[in-house]
Amino acid sequence: MRIFTAPTAPEVHIVCELLKSHCIDCQVIGEGIAGLQGELPFDDSTCPSIWLLDISQLGQAHKIIQQLEQQDQSTSKWQCQQCDELIEMQFRLCWKCNTTTD
Ligand SMILES: [Zn+2]
Repeated sequence: MRIFTAPTAPEVHIVCELLKSHCIDCQVIGEGIAGLQGELPFDDSTCPSIWLLDISQLGQAHKIIQQLEQQDQSTSKWQCQQCDELIEMQFRLCWKCNTTTD
């Protein structure tokens, strides 16, 4: 069954390798179709995705993906050393006190 989908193949492979490193049996499906996205209606079925080969590992796989998504959110911001404001990663400068990330 399909447990994870991302718009690009590299993202899917990163998650697949992570799952495999936790001894979860999974496979990347559909990455070959990605190049045809311009011609096909863009939806989940045309995205590369990860399929779980052993259904009994579903709970564990979901937990790992969930943790990964939480990590993504927490690393997308940095905390200003001067005023403790949380700034999004694309901004190199604190909007509050003008301190830079480095
Ligand atoms: Zn600041």
